[in-house]
Amino acid sequence: MEDGEEDLTMAEGGVVIDQKIFDGLGDIEILKKEPMAYHTSFHIGGPAEYLVTPHTVDSLRMLVRRLNDSGIEPFIIGAGTNILVGDKGISDVVVKVYEFKCADRFEEDYCYLCGGDLLTAKVKMLSSRGFKCLQWAYGIPGTVGGAVHMNAGAFGSDISEWLVNVEVVDPSGEVRLIEKCDINFGYRRSDVSKCGIVVGASFRFEREDPERLVREIDEYMEIRRQRHPLDYPNAGSIFKNPSKETPAGKLIEEVGLKGSRVGDAMVSKKHANFIVNLGRASAKDVLELIRRIQDEVWHKFDIFLEPEICIAGEL
Ligand SMILES: Cc1cc2nc3c(=O)[nH]c(=O)nc-3n(C[C@H](O)[C@H](O)[C@H](O)COP(=O)(O)OP(=O)(O)OC[C@H]3O[C@@H](n4cnc5c(N)ncnc54)[C@H](O)[C@@H]3O)c2cc1C
Repeated sequence: MEDGEEDLTMAEGGVVIDQKIFDGLGDIEILKKEPMAYHTSFHIGGPAEYLVTPHTVDSLRMLVRRLNDSGIEPFIIGAGTNILVGDKGISDVVVKVYEFKCADRFEEDYCYLCGGDLLTAKVKMLSSRGFKCLQWAYGIPGTVGGAVHMNAGAFGSDISEWLVNVEVVDPSGEVRLIEKCDINFGYRRSDVSKCGIVVGASFRFEREDPERLVREIDEYMEIRRQRHPLDYPNAGSIFKNPSKETPAGKLIEEVGLKGSRVGDAMVSKKHANFIVNLGRASAKDVLELIRRIQDEVWHKFDIFLEPEICIAGEL
């Protein structure tokens, strides 16, 4: 771009994005036309018009305020472990809330965890300090903020069970504390994003022998290694389980789709509720496979499999 020339692009809602919007925001990384495949565990996804990673809560606050003043609604990602991004990418500003500088805090019976940090690292730290709460989440590869938004769960527990409150940056850039009772949680969903971007969350804990907790998380990890296809890029469970008694994976297995492929997207042979990227899978391949699974399961069992993954961008 020549000096003096303006860099303007059109966001999804028809709003013009002027690159100057990012000027002087401090500790922040700005990437233009950044392939989302680099930022998702599926390794799939076309370019984001802008991918912006604030490194502090203050730079996130300023960014959010600027975007809001310009009528731009950003798309938020954490570690990108529950997202399928379309092949044409996201013609918007993507804000990556990932490992910004922020300190955990500990009180008598609860702890505050940073929203951009990896949940698994936090669970390891909590376990080694003898704080019993989120051990079941060890091995979930997303961030604390992503886990709150998704109400992540495993082994019969979920985030909402241990949550006390959430700190968000609201659209005006203010930090607000939201009590758990003011958030609606459901199975792998919440409406926390209506309040803002999660920058931290507090969880209650009980005291327990650290050695016992460390053993417990190692056991959870071993179960994951045995059950999940961790050798290939994936986005975790593709579908929600219709009920405890009828896991989606079992239904998919029973319609004979284990190992079924569209391009390089394949229903995992190890766990049928995972689709793996064998190398060059596109979002289109994954979506075609998703539809095939939904059709077969619907025809055989009269059950609609609802996707658990978030689908974003243009296909
Ligand atoms: C191998 C593997 C195993 C998995 N196992 C499990 C499991 O056992 N249980 C489970 O529940 N999930 C599991 N997942 C899915 C995923 O890891 C979780 O849903 C995780 O909580 C998503 O966090 P993330 O930071 O990656 O979020 P992303 O995938 O980046 O985003 C997911 C959603 O959360 C929103 N979001 C992200 N960060 C924020 C924020 N700070 N504030 C507001 N909204 C935000 C995004 O807009 C998006 O809608 C697994 C995934 C993989 C790849």
